[in-house]
Amino acid sequence: MRTVLGDIAPAGLGVCDAHDHLFLRSPQLPGQELDDPEAAAAELRAFRAAGGSAVIQWTPYGMGRGAAELPRLARESGVHIVAATGLHQAAHYAPEVLERLRSGPAGLFVAELTEGIGGTGPRAGMIKVAGGFHGLDAHARHTMAAAAEAQRATGAVIGVHLELGTGAQAVLDLLCGELAVPPDRVILGHLNRSPDLVAHRAAAEAGAYLAFDGPSRAHHATDWRLPEALAALAEAGFGDRILLGGDTTTAGARSVNGGPGMPHLLRRHRERLDIALGKDLVTQFLTANPARAFAADWARAPQDPHKGRETRRAPTA
Ligand SMILES: [Zn+2]
Repeated sequence: MRTVLGDIAPAGLGVCDAHDHLFLRSPQLPGQELDDPEAAAAELRAFRAAGGSAVIQWTPYGMGRGAAELPRLARESGVHIVAATGLHQAAHYAPEVLERLRSGPAGLFVAELTEGIGGTGPRAGMIKVAGGFHGLDAHARHTMAAAAEAQRATGAVIGVHLELGTGAQAVLDLLCGELAVPPDRVILGHLNRSPDLVAHRAAAEAGAYLAFDGPSRAHHATDWRLPEALAALAEAGFGDRILLGGDTTTAGARSVNGGPGMPHLLRRHRERLDIALGKDLVTQFLTANPARAFAADWARAPQDPHKGRETRRAPTA
């Protein structure tokens, strides 16, 4: 498990919000930027107070990840933070940014995973990519090919933004079929947004992890379908594939601004899932499953020149 403060044993991860954002900036969300370190710190404190122990930030390259702030925020809050490399959909970037990366984002991804973000920042612990609505455009295919290459080089897991929860099979065909990524190195995100139980089941049968990361203000429309979707997967024997996240994408969705934010995942959201599914299963979704999904065999990664530079921190309760 590669956190912004160094590698930790997966068992030390604790209660994990498997898909969220402390920092995020996109031309698609003007005026809604998550760019305030003090608000991020307050949100982490609220998450910690609700019993949270780890946050996986799925903000990729070029979207204001706040990489320089993340180690301090992790240290001060006592919450493990995992950062991401990778690329989102083309619409989230200025064309010249993508042009610069045209020749091969794989090198960037590997460097951010093994050396550090921007060379001197914390190392990323996952690769984020994105599909489109029921399909994959040239940018998505190019980015996923680079992600597969970086995955092979480092062992890192690939987390996929599915547009409105769709296109899981197209992503699996490309990543695990054409590009030969092991299915258990793929996390399909936003499946909650498309409560298609047949697609969920097929993705689980393929061996991927399934992230249901819904309960923030921006993506509430299908929250009410979540318990039945998770129950169906668990009954089919796929309880070990499920991850839960908050996916706070706007300042207004933060708990410190009156929204549900990260604590909601562990309060109301968890409570209703406990009622529907039982506490043991929900605890597994929040602890053992993310510990397995985000673990990686970093030993096979290229030699890290900064090895020993990061301070290893004690696992938190
Ligand atoms: Zn997200």
